Amino acid sequence: MANFAPTALQSATIRIDAAAGGAVTFAASELQRYLQRMTGVHVPIAHDGAPKTLVLGSATTMPAALQGTQSFVINPEPAGVTLRAGSSRALLSAVYALLERLGCRWSLHGLDEEIVPRLDASVQLDRIEQTPRFAVRGYASDIMTWHYTQPEHFHGRLDDDRSFIDWMGKSGANAFLYIRHPFDTQLTIPELIPDFQRRGIDLEYGGHVIPLLLPRELYREHPDYFPAAADGARTDLGNLCTSNAAALTTASANAVQYVRDYPEMRAVHIWGADLWHGGWCRCADCATLSVQDQSLRVCNSVAQGLDEAGVARPVCYLAYHDTIDAELSVHPDRNVVVEFAPRERCYGHAINDAACTTNQRYAAALQRYVELFDGRVRIFEYYGDAILYFGCAAPISDVIAADMDYYARLGVPGITLLQFGSYSLWAYPLNILTFATASRQAGVAADARRGYCERFGSRASAVADLFVALEDVMRSVTTYGDIRRPPRQLDEARRLLPRVEGALPCLARISECFSSFGDDTLLAQAALVRYTHGVLTGVRQHLHDTLAGHPRDAEARYTEALQVIEAVDRRFKGLWGSVDLPIMHRLFAAAAHAE
Ligand SMILES: [Zn+2]
Ligand SMILES: [Zn+2]
Repeated sequence: MANFAPTALQSATIRIDAAAGGAVTFAASELQRYLQRMTGVHVPIAHDGAPKTLVLGSATTMPAALQGTQSFVINPEPAGVTLRAGSSRALLSAVYALLERLGCRWSLHGLDEEIVPRLDASVQLDRIEQTPRFAVRGYASDIMTWHYTQPEHFHGRLDDDRSFIDWMGKSGANAFLYIRHPFDTQLTIPELIPDFQRRGIDLEYGGHVIPLLLPRELYREHPDYFPAAADGARTDLGNLCTSNAAALTTASANAVQYVRDYPEMRAVHIWGADLWHGGWCRCADCATLSVQDQSLRVCNSVAQGLDEAGVARPVCYLAYHDTIDAELSVHPDRNVVVEFAPRERCYGHAINDAACTTNQRYAAALQRYVELFDGRVRIFEYYGDAILYFGCAAPISDVIAADMDYYARLGVPGITLLQFGSYSLWAYPLNILTFATASRQAGVAADARRGYCERFGSRASAVADLFVALEDVMRSVTTYGDIRRPPRQLDEARRLLPRVEGALPCLARISECFSSFGDDTLLAQAALVRYTHGVLTGVRQHLHDTLAGHPRDAEARYTEALQVIEAVDRRFKGLWGSVDLPIMHRLFAAAAHAE
């Protein structure tokens, strides 16, 4: 089948390992299902093949063993095609790569938008060998965004998730992290576990869990387990006293219990309370340690506890907020990985752009972490973070492609993207597609944009031009962290104001152009850009007030903006746009009021 002929399928068989389960079985059934759609031929599956191998037809040579667990090879021969992979997950990637070679195109927006061509003529196949650039290619979400205690919200979201997980399988992702906060009552969404496991996608749990690993009930008997303030007073808020051996042992034992209770957990994320300058201990023994050292002590203790219990897993230490710089004197355990989450960086420039004064600090910190952790680094990126961008459109595909080139050059083995379900897919599709493509190969930003815009048919190139224009405009304002929290320092406010004022008329024009196409999907994009315009009108007011020394009061502007999203159909904005974005508006308004 070096020349793949649909007629040859009549007598073909798909052969997999007799003992195969999980992703190999799923890979075979996906190949069978799509071939039937393309040719009308039902190819039977036989369980008499070799491990981590799938043969369509018959093969005479077995490709040489692959080096990495993430690699695969597609080897066409006259009588058949052999797919061989380093893992069952990679074998599924090989099947999707073969189907893409036969003309299939996947969609971020679900099965209805996939392209599955009718195959009548034969297709020339070449040998394909691939090893993704990053060994871990994952997505992350806060568990609270599922609203799992509110059935009226929760059940409607699961269908969206299943569609996304299916796309993750097709686009090469292999990990998903559920981020827990102390007020969450669960570590995962059990209903979705089978969807991940079927595709060989690893589940990772944890998040801001250190306050949970030391149960607060212990405070009455053991206040010395808990953090001390500068005046020496202990409190049951925050994390724990990392100079107290019993406190560390307790936290470690509870982490071991997590892994025993949830054996599917492939990595454990052990982060402190989600606070700035808060949560760590200042007792006489801890005061000499940086907050980074204190956080790392907990991770080391957990890693050792897991190892001793025979359930070793990678343990992720978080570099974020006040732990972003690599101020460490403690040496990381060999199973501890640094998770680098540069949320306050500038997204108008690549993280290693020497012209960006903000990002220099982050690139330097990352390089230091790569050294200190001997390359055991995971990047946690915010390319789909609807809170950071406050729900605004923010295509930054060029920045993402350049960031990921840099991360790959540093030898970083893993990268995760934070997103909030359907809203992120609607508002940040180019970011997510660029991420997905760049996590597997180099040099792809423009390809991702072009591929995405094909869904707009005859308007594809006009829409692609609008996304380029939008990216140019937003580059000048995605520079300072949370969009809804513009700088309060006068010199920074003075520098930002003209950029915001320059963006507003461009956004108005881009929104009008999207509207002019008239179809529902593009009208929804027009509304998203109009909302972005509304939020930036609020930011402009905020900056004016700051510079004039007035009390800052842009609430009416933000409320008007939100009304634009309230009118958008739920099939675009999802649960997050319907429920969480209005909550975010209220939270930010309350915070502004309290200033
Ligand atoms: Zn202490
Ligand atoms: Zn910058």
